[in-house]
Amino acid sequence: MLNRSQADWIHLDIMDGVFVPNISFGMPVIKRVRQLSEKPLDVHLMIVQPERYIHTFREMGADLLTVHWEASTHLHRTISQIKEEDMLAGVALNPHTPVAGLEDIINDVNLVLIMSVNPGFGGQKFIERSLHKISELREMIKRNKSEALIEVDGGVCRDNIAAIVKAGADAVVAGNAVFKSEDPEAAIQSLKQV
Ligand code: ZN
Repeated sequence: MLNRSQADWIHLDIMDGVFVPNISFGMPVIKRVRQLSEKPLDVHLMIVQPERYIHTFREMGADLLTVHWEASTHLHRTISQIKEEDMLAGVALNPHTPVAGLEDIINDVNLVLIMSVNPGFGGQKFIERSLHKISELREMIKRNKSEALIEVDGGVCRDNIAAIVKAGADAVVAGNAVFKSEDPEAAIQSLKQV
């Protein structure tokens, strides 16, 4: 269905039960998705010490690898390592993490992921404050002449996607809005129309 759909990427949430209070899935599932999918794999690591697995995720077929700002002590090094493995490098911010902390890395990352719910579980409500963070980040990107894309993850649905895009998002992640819908392919199409 996803291969047929208008989705641009397949977003995979990897949870380790330590950085977030939930465990999702690991390497064998990603490998299988890679075999079945014709779309780029956008892998979002909600794990501690993500630098340990950069090479492994490349081998599993990730095209874009996003690590959490809060989980990366040496973020600049981790971002460089991801790019050295020929992947696009992203950094994710939890809802409480200010955008200002990205000023010194904004020209090095390919993508910034704004978490618009607390990571760990699907089906949560979009945190409205995220819209302000998206606009603030858009201004920072412009000011620094960065080419980083803004991705928004959590609680995205048909009702709020227009405001998210208007605030400056380039990419949105939709989980429940697609997979809890009766016709997931039509749900993707409807989100893409905005
Ligand atoms: Zn995610």
